[in-house]
Amino acid sequence: MHPADCCDAADRLLTLSEAVAAALQTIQPICETESVPLFDAYGRILATDVAARLDAPPGDNSAMDGFAVYLADLSREVPTRLPVTAQALAGHPCSGIVPRKAAARITTGALIPEGPDAVIMQEQCRIGPDEAWIDIEPNIAARLKPGENIRRGGEDVQAGTLLLPKGLRLRPQDVALAAGQGMATLDAIRRLRVAVASTGDELHEPGAVLPPGAIYESNRYTLIGLLQRLGCAVTDLGILRDDREILLPALREAAAAHDVLLTSGGVSVGTADWVKDVIADLGQIQFWRLAVKPGKPVTFGRIGDCRVLGLPGNPVSVMISFLMFARPLLRKLMGAELVEPARWRVAANFALRRKPGRREWLRARLQLDSERGPLVHIYHTHSSGALSSLSWADGLVELPEECAGITPGDAVDYLPFSGLGMD
Ligand code: AMP
Ligand code: MG
Repeated sequence: MHPADCCDAADRLLTLSEAVAAALQTIQPICETESVPLFDAYGRILATDVAARLDAPPGDNSAMDGFAVYLADLSREVPTRLPVTAQALAGHPCSGIVPRKAAARITTGALIPEGPDAVIMQEQCRIGPDEAWIDIEPNIAARLKPGENIRRGGEDVQAGTLLLPKGLRLRPQDVALAAGQGMATLDAIRRLRVAVASTGDELHEPGAVLPPGAIYESNRYTLIGLLQRLGCAVTDLGILRDDREILLPALREAAAAHDVLLTSGGVSVGTADWVKDVIADLGQIQFWRLAVKPGKPVTFGRIGDCRVLGLPGNPVSVMISFLMFARPLLRKLMGAELVEPARWRVAANFALRRKPGRREWLRARLQLDSERGPLVHIYHTHSSGALSSLSWADGLVELPEECAGITPGDAVDYLPFSGLGMD
């Protein structure tokens, strides 16, 4: 008997929301941190709130290439001629005060010299030979306001304010913001250590010659890619045979050295499905089977301090159960802020009848119809073995548990892959 059959067939299956909430409750984020040089910080999770050290920009500076002037010197009736008596270049501030009735040559990013209160774009001036003087037409002068084309010191960031919040997954622009503050490193949470195994006697590595009845293994290629995008440190355990004597020591060893163990296959009710039994023998199963489609046999448990997620074997079930179930748990473990996937209400371009009860995801593509606006299409087969459907799709349609069917034009929830961390 399978020990995990304690959740017998008559039991109501947990919904996805119940399962995620129950699993999240048992998870404490890892807290070890490390200092990471900025170029290694992309995709890492920020360990602490980071406050700005400096005002940005550090002082008032020019937003344009042009001339710094005193507005009060400009006539609104006749052209004004001003001698250009000073120069302020980016990185080379002008020393001293600019006298009244004179202009300073200025480049974008240069500090505004003492005195002038506006910058005129060079395209709006008539410039004399050798830039000795400029003429400004009255209609241009009339449109200039105090502070025109001046970026104020601290207008972007004020020293002491929150620059980047703890739990943020650092994107290039966040790393750049830290660089702009002169920080050479950031404190990140250490990477989550995740071991990945595929199980099944029929599986062979790509590149090998296939014996009859065998298939090439693909689930590790999905899972390792997804985990790398999440920023995990992945150990590849390869393909494990459907043999208790092989699975048990392999999972025990992996659990001892990792935060998470992720398997695919072998969690259903077939005679060769040993993964649940082995988890139950080595640790505990918290739950097995969810009211979802695809991915029903998802198994969640622990071996010692290691979380174990047994995903089903079908290639589509693997990716969808990873995105919907594993991903939020991994994000909490790695100390990342919890964010709901982006979802848009879009008109369906398909019809479907179904039995209510399970939350279901359909492989979908969003297309813009010139007359009807955005429409969501679904793949021609619902088979959870059809890996090509995921390659075709750019997102998923999510049907809630109670949905009994869709008619064309109904509004459905479309979840773009980009909002699930996969673009
Ligand atoms: P299982 O959950 O082990 O019963 O597997 C369900 C289906 O998924 C079977 O058709 C398996 O051959 C297939 N499958 C399981 N693991 C993989 C894998 N790693 N790569 C490709 N197909 C798989
Ligand atoms: Mg199998």
